[in-house]
Amino acid sequence: MLKPRRAAQNLPTYHPPLGGRHGLRLDFNENTVGCSPRVLERIRRIGVEDLARYPEREPVEHVAANHLGIRPQELLLTNGVDEAIHLVCQTYLEADDEVLFVVPTFAMYEIFASATGARIIKIPAGKDFTFPTEAVLRHIAAHTRLIAIANPNNPTGAAAPLEDLLLIARSAPNAAILIDEAYYEFHSETLLRRWADQPNLFVARTFSKAYGLAGLRAGLLMACEDSMSAVRRVASPYSVNSVALACLPEALGDRSYVAAYVQEVCEGRDRLQAELKSLGIRFWPSRANFVLLHLGAANGAFIQGMRERGILVRDRSRDPDCEGCVRITLGSTEQTDQLLKALREILSQVGTSRQEVHP
Ligand code: PMP
Repeated sequence: MLKPRRAAQNLPTYHPPLGGRHGLRLDFNENTVGCSPRVLERIRRIGVEDLARYPEREPVEHVAANHLGIRPQELLLTNGVDEAIHLVCQTYLEADDEVLFVVPTFAMYEIFASATGARIIKIPAGKDFTFPTEAVLRHIAAHTRLIAIANPNNPTGAAAPLEDLLLIARSAPNAAILIDEAYYEFHSETLLRRWADQPNLFVARTFSKAYGLAGLRAGLLMACEDSMSAVRRVASPYSVNSVALACLPEALGDRSYVAAYVQEVCEGRDRLQAELKSLGIRFWPSRANFVLLHLGAANGAFIQGMRERGILVRDRSRDPDCEGCVRITLGSTEQTDQLLKALREILSQVGTSRQEVHP
C-alpha cells in the first residue's frame, strides 16, 4: 500500500454530518432562505460557452475589489474560505513551524495546517469563551508562522476586539495573521484594509453564509499586494468555476437583499437570546448568525426533539469545553417563530435545571 506523508497519516478527520438534512436547516450556519433572485436569474442564462471555456477570474476580482473599496491586487477569489486557509498554509508553513489558534474554533485550520507538518498549538479560550489576547501574545515565538482567528468565532459566536488582533499582528511580524471574517455581515466589524499598516495581516470572507451560496463555493482572501502575489503563486488559476464567477457580481450587486436577510437574522438572534435568558438556559452572546447554548444532560434529547419537529441543530458537545452544548443557526423571522415554539415545547418536556445565565 502506498504510504502517505507522515503529516497526512496523522491528520484529524472532519466529516461534517451532511447526510439526511431534510427540514429546517439550523445546523450549518448557512443562509436558510437562499440567495438573491438575481443570482438565480443569472444561472438560468448560463450557456454552452460559459461551461466550455476555462473560467476567467480576473474581471470578477475587479468587481469584488471595487465593491469592497480595495485594489484587485489585494484580493484573490477562492473556492470558499476553506481554500483561502489552505493557500495561506501552503504559502507560509514549513514542517516544524508553529501555528497558533484559540479553541474551540473552526476545524479546518487544524487540518490544513497539520497537513504541512507544522506544529499546532491550541490555546484555550478565556472565561465564557472570550478571546484570550494575553495568552496568545505569550505563545508567540520565533517559529510562529501562522495565527488563525475566526472573528466572530465558530462555534461560540464570540468576537475579539480589533485592536487586540492588530496588537497580535504587530507582535508576530514573522507570522501570517489570518482573520477569518466568514460571519462579518452579522458583526459588521472588520480589519479590511488594515494590512496597509500591518503587512502580515490576511482577511477572509465567504459567500457561503449571508449570501446563501455555500453550494457554489466562493470566498475571498485579501491582504497587501506583496502577500497576495506570494499566495497567488501556489493557487490554481481555475479553482473558482464559471457558474460561481457568473453569479458573484449579481450577489454583490443585490445589497438590499443581503441587508434585509442579515437584519432578520440579527433580530432572530436577539429574540432567541432573550428567550434563553428568560428560560434560564446558559448561552454565550453571539455576534454571528448562530447561538451556542448549554443544555447539559438534556442536549441529546433536545437535538432529537428538534429533529422530530423537522428542525436540524448541531451537536457541538465534542468541541473543547463544549460538553452538553448545541449550536443553533438563525434564519428568517418565520423560521425563528418556528424555532422558538419548538424550543419551548421541547424544554418543557425534557426539562433543564436552571443554570447560571449569561448577560
Ligand atoms: N470559516 C468559518 C469560521 C466557518 O465557520 C466556515 C463554515 N462553517 C468556514 C470558514 C467555511 O467557509 P466556506 O464555505 O467559505 O469554505
